[in-house]
Amino acid sequence: MATTLPEGVSSSDFDQAIREIRKIVGDEWVFLDSELSPYLDHMSAVPPEYRTPSAALAPANVEETQAILKIANRFSLPLWTYGNGKNWAYGGPTPLHAGYLVLDLKRMNRILEVNEDSGYVLVEPGVSYFQLYQHLQDIGSNLWIDCAAPGWGGVIGNALEHGAGYTPYADHYVMSCGMEVLLADGELVRTGMGAMPGSKAWQQFKYGYGPTLDGMFTQGNFGIVTKMGFWMMPKPPAYKPFMFSYEKESDLHAIMEILRPLKMNMVWQNGAVGEHIGYSASVLGPRSDYTDSSAPITDARWQEIAHDLNLGIWNFYGACYGLPANVEMQFGALKGAMTSIPGARVWLEGDREPDDAGWNYRAKLMQGIPNMTEFNLVNWDGGGHLNFSPMGPMGGDHAVKLYNMMKEITNGYGFDHLTEMVGTFRGFIALTMVMFDPRDEDAAKRADACSVDIIQKAAAAGYGELKANLRYMNTVMGSYTGNDSGLHKVNQKIKDALDPVGILSPGKSDIWPSSWKHSRAN
Ligand SMILES: Cc1cc2nc3c(=O)[nH]c(=O)nc-3n(C[C@H](O)[C@H](O)[C@H](O)COP(=O)(O)OP(=O)(O)OC[C@H]3O[C@@H](n4cnc5c(N)ncnc54)[C@H](O)[C@@H]3O)c2cc1C
Repeated sequence: MATTLPEGVSSSDFDQAIREIRKIVGDEWVFLDSELSPYLDHMSAVPPEYRTPSAALAPANVEETQAILKIANRFSLPLWTYGNGKNWAYGGPTPLHAGYLVLDLKRMNRILEVNEDSGYVLVEPGVSYFQLYQHLQDIGSNLWIDCAAPGWGGVIGNALEHGAGYTPYADHYVMSCGMEVLLADGELVRTGMGAMPGSKAWQQFKYGYGPTLDGMFTQGNFGIVTKMGFWMMPKPPAYKPFMFSYEKESDLHAIMEILRPLKMNMVWQNGAVGEHIGYSASVLGPRSDYTDSSAPITDARWQEIAHDLNLGIWNFYGACYGLPANVEMQFGALKGAMTSIPGARVWLEGDREPDDAGWNYRAKLMQGIPNMTEFNLVNWDGGGHLNFSPMGPMGGDHAVKLYNMMKEITNGYGFDHLTEMVGTFRGFIALTMVMFDPRDEDAAKRADACSVDIIQKAAAAGYGELKANLRYMNTVMGSYTGNDSGLHKVNQKIKDALDPVGILSPGKSDIWPSSWKHSRAN
């Protein structure tokens, strides 16, 4: 018998449901009690027990998942779905509430198709970046993948969370094409061209006929994605990674002004990743390597650290891709613009020390070679980490405003300000990491309060979050209240229509069926 049950479900019903699920997936793919420790999150600001699931179930295919859905509907079991479960900083594989059942799709990990001619893959939800990369290497493919910084992430899970990578194909949802989705009632739907029997262009063309539904299966709880197509970038003839470093914190304004037209005109082809020195340093070693003080690291100390690491206060990574002559021409334009700021330095392949972990992992990521180097940064101060990504329009004023705001908030709660500014085609992400020791109760409480403050102050200034740790989903959705909370209302209507009982990830992105009688707090 499970020690933690889903709210409103009796232990006899739960036991009966588990007996039936065992018959579907096999005993070894149902996890209870002490077997659930891999499904706990030790890195957030609330203790792991806060979200202990009642069970975890790992079906092997669509049919087994459909059979589980039938049982979940009969017994009102809330299923928390994930593909790879590596969404650390946002909650990992752990469910929103204690007692939910985790629907772990990592056994559904087939790479169903690699199409070299059209440059796409069709995959199942358990496929990781490492797995896809290795497969393409093994078959001698000429296609690159585009991966998030931690290479253990899932191709589908990351895209569904609006995740991003570092080649020109960085926006993973934008670069997806065609989904297969299971609805709460067990119905199987294919989107776009895939809805047509015998369709020849499911992964080549995004739209079929009628409304385009794909986006509503991202960052929500309207369905379980069982297959998804992704466009892959053909290996370009030339690839030239670079870094521009800047001496002063105040250079940020000029950098972002210069960057805007470069990004808009696609002269800078991939994401422009601007690490503050704190971010660069955190990848290379823990906090204790840089300071003995428990107070936030000061500007003066960051300057010394930048000097010691032979880096700038700002370090902007990017790359050029294409024909060799085009790459050189394009780089010339970038260099001319980006080095117009006094003190700017240019770094190319071979300029950094051969063992420079920071340069080496960025140079890999920007050509889609997955690795785990960046994950080192979670060791900064004891392993706790919460990520925030307020979005702003590209430009100096907004970048400086958000940077100062995030710095003031994080420092105000006693934390270092670890940030990178990522320039997209029109906007930028002010990625802010709250790093703390989760074993320190006071630090965890401060991290929690700091997180709420980040979301609310950024929203009050007009900068919305693009994703959130489970704990703060209500807070983030609570900032998208325009037009009398029109967005929230339409989500609610869709949820009621597709999943009235609340079988699929109830509460994800603060979306609940209106019949939901149980806890809604995060
Ligand atoms: C140091 C550090 C660096 C990071 N760098 C990046 C980065 O560069 N880019 C980036 O995008 N992220 C980054 N992240 C965030 C995170 O690690 C990645 O986004 C990671 O890929 C998410 O985990 P996953 O792929 O295993 O997703 P999963 O845990 O499998 O899925 C994430 C969520 O998507 C939904 N979901 C997953 N599969 C399905 C499905 N089949 N059907 C319906 N819903 C589903 C669920 O709600 C699930 O909780 C970083 C995090 C850290 C700590």
